[in-house]
Amino acid sequence: MRNWRHLPLAACVALGAGAAVLGYGLLHQATTDLLRHEARIDAEVWSAQLSKNTSELPALARGSAPTAATLDLLFKSRQAGGVTAFRIYNTSGKLMLRYGDGAGTTANGDTVATLDPGLAASIAAKKSSATLRRGSGDQATSYASSNVAIRDGGTIVGWLVADVDQTRRQAAYNALTFNLALLFGTLLLVGPFLGYRYSTRQKYLVERQIETMSQRDQMTGLPNKASFLKLVDRQLLQTEGGTTQCALIVCELTDAHAIDQSFGLQAAERAILVTATRLTEIKPERTEIAALERARFGLFMHGVSDAMAVLALAKELTSKLGYALEWQGEQIGMQVHAGIGLSSSDGKDAATLLRSAELALRSAQEQGTPGYGFFNPEIAQDARRRVAVQKAVADATANHSFRLDFQPVYAIRTGELNGFEALIRLHDPELGAISPAEFIPIAEQSGLINRIGAWCLEEACRIAAQWPAHLVVSVNLSPAQFYTGSLIADVRQALDQNQFPSYRLEVEITEGTLLKDSELVLQQLGVLREMGLAVALDDFGTGYSSLSYLWKFPFSKLKIDRSFVAALDEAQSARGILRSIIKLGHGLGLSVTAEGIENTRQFETLRELGCDLAQGFLLDRPARIADLAGIILRNFAKGLTGRTDATTERTRFPSTGTHNG
Ligand code: C2E
Ligand code: MG
Ligand code: MG
Repeated sequence: MRNWRHLPLAACVALGAGAAVLGYGLLHQATTDLLRHEARIDAEVWSAQLSKNTSELPALARGSAPTAATLDLLFKSRQAGGVTAFRIYNTSGKLMLRYGDGAGTTANGDTVATLDPGLAASIAAKKSSATLRRGSGDQATSYASSNVAIRDGGTIVGWLVADVDQTRRQAAYNALTFNLALLFGTLLLVGPFLGYRYSTRQKYLVERQIETMSQRDQMTGLPNKASFLKLVDRQLLQTEGGTTQCALIVCELTDAHAIDQSFGLQAAERAILVTATRLTEIKPERTEIAALERARFGLFMHGVSDAMAVLALAKELTSKLGYALEWQGEQIGMQVHAGIGLSSSDGKDAATLLRSAELALRSAQEQGTPGYGFFNPEIAQDARRRVAVQKAVADATANHSFRLDFQPVYAIRTGELNGFEALIRLHDPELGAISPAEFIPIAEQSGLINRIGAWCLEEACRIAAQWPAHLVVSVNLSPAQFYTGSLIADVRQALDQNQFPSYRLEVEITEGTLLKDSELVLQQLGVLREMGLAVALDDFGTGYSSLSYLWKFPFSKLKIDRSFVAALDEAQSARGILRSIIKLGHGLGLSVTAEGIENTRQFETLRELGCDLAQGFLLDRPARIADLAGIILRNFAKGLTGRTDATTERTRFPSTGTHNG
C-alpha cells in the first residue's frame, strides 16, 4: 500500500513533463512558421528594395554580369538586411549569380535540383516561398531562404533567392520556446503538485486529528482509557524485574449520577469537568492521568517510594476533589472515592492492575468511609461472587424462578394473625440459596429490580387474594423502583389483575429510599396512600435521620429494626429506647411492629411496652406458599380460643409459634 501512496505525485510529474514536451513541440512549430514568415517578408522587402534601386535584375537572370553599381547595391543591401547571400536563378533553375558568403559572384551552374527541396518546388510552381535550413562550419547556424520572382514586364524571367541569417532570431525564438515550455510545464507540474501537497497535508492533519481524538477523552480532553492502558503497559514493561514500585489509583465522582438526577445533565458535566481540572492541578510529578469513564479517572504513578505515600495521595484526592461545587447559587456535594492497585502485588499488566484498582474503588464506595483503600484478594473474591450472583439474578429473571415466602405478622395483644410480609427467595442451581439482602442491591445495579419488583407486587397480590379478607400483605420496595417511573402503574396492575383491594396491600420502604431524591419518593408514596395502600417505614432506627422523615410523610406504620429487639438481651437501655420508639409511633398515630422477635422474653417486653404487631422466628419463620393455608387455619382457631380466654392466650400465644422456629 505504501508504494502506491506517491502515485498521484508521480502522475503529476509525468503529466507535467508530458505537457512540457508537448508544449515545446507546439511552440517550436509555431516559432519555425514565424521565422519562415518573417524570412519571406525580409526577402520580399529586400527584393522590393533591390528592384526599386536597380533595373538590372531581369538582365542578371538572363546571365549578364552585374555592373559595379549593382554589386555595390547588393553589398549594401546584404549588410543592411542581414542577408548572408543572394542568388539569382533563371526560370530553368540555373544559378546565374551568387553573391555573399564570401563565395564568388559568378554563375557556377547550380541547378534547381541542388536547392532546398521546398524552395525548388516553389520555383517550379512559380510561387514565392521561404524555407529554413541549418548552416554548417563557420557559416550562420540557421538560414531562412526566400525566393521572389524577377519580372520583366509581366513575365517571370528568373528567381531571386535571399539567404537571410536567422541564427540570432532563431536562438531568441528557441529560448522563448524553451522558456515558455518550461513555464507551461512547470505550471502544469507545480499546480497539481501544490494541489497534491495540499491534499496530502490536509489528509495528514485529519489523520492526526482522528488519532488524537482516538486517544483523548472528548469531554475532558484528558488521555482516554485505551491510551492510558497502553502507557501503563509500557511503563510496567520498563520497570519489570526491577525494584521500582508503581501504583494505579482509580477515583470516581460517585455522586455524578445523583447530580445528574437532581441538578440535570449540565450540572453533572460541569462537576465532571471540575473534577478533571482539580485532578490535573493536584497530580504529583511523574504521574499520568486519564479519563477512564464518564466520571472515573485513573492516575498512574511510577517510582513510588512506599505504599503509604500512595495511600496519602488517595486520601488527598478524595478530600480535595470532593470540595462542594457552586452551581447556580446552590452547593453541590461532590463525593469522590478512590481505589488503589500496586504493581508489586495487584497486577503485572495494565488491564489487571486497573481491574484491581477498580475493585478496590467499588469496595471503598460500598464501605463509605474512609472513601479510599487498597485492593486485597478478598475484594477480588467478593467481585467474583458478585458476578456469579448477577448471573443468577439474570437467569432467575429470565426463567421466572424467583419465589415468594410469607412471614406471618401477629397482633401482640390478641395474638391474631394480622397478615404476612412477602419475602423474595432466590435459589440458584450452583450457588444455592442467595439472601435478598445480597441479591437485591445487585439487581438494582444491573437494572433488573423493576421487573423483579413488579413481579413481587403481582405475585404477592395473587397469593393474598386467596386469603381471608381481613389479612393484609406487605411488600418491600427497593429505592430503585421509585426512579424508573413505573412503580404506580405496577401497583395498579397488580391490584387490578387480582381484584385485590388496595387497603389490604402495604408497601415497606427503608429510610435509605428517602435519602436520595426524597421529593420524588414522597410524591409517589403520596399517590400510593391516596390509592388506599398502607406505607410502612421499615428497619426504623438504623438510619441517621429516621425521625426527620416521620413528620414529612404520613406513614401508616413503623417497623422497629430487629437490632433493637436483639439488644433487649444485652443492654439495659434497650428497653427504654424501645419504649420511646413505640410512644413516638403512637404519638404520630402509627401502628408499630417489632421485627426479629426470637425469644419469649423479647416478646413479653414488647407486649408490655404496648407494641402493636410482632414478627419473628419465635412466632413463625417465613413460610412457603403451600404452608400458608395451615398457618391461617391454625391462627383462625387460635383466635377463636384466644377471644374466650385472654389470660390463657397471653401466655400461650408466643409458645405456639415456636414450632416454626
Ligand atoms: P426486611 O424487610 O427487614 O425483612 C425482614 C427480614 O428479617 C427477612 O430477611 C426475614 O427473614 C428476617 N427475619 C424475620 N424474623 C427474624 C428473626 O426472628 N430473626 C432474624 N435473625 N431474622 C428474622 P430476608 O428474607 O433475608 O430479607 C432481608 C431483607 O431483604 C429484607 O429485610 C428486605 O429489606 C429485603 N427483601 C426481602 N424481600 C424483598 C423483596 O421482595 N423486595 C425487596 N425490594 N426487598 C426485599
Ligand atoms: Mg420488610
Ligand atoms: Mg426490616
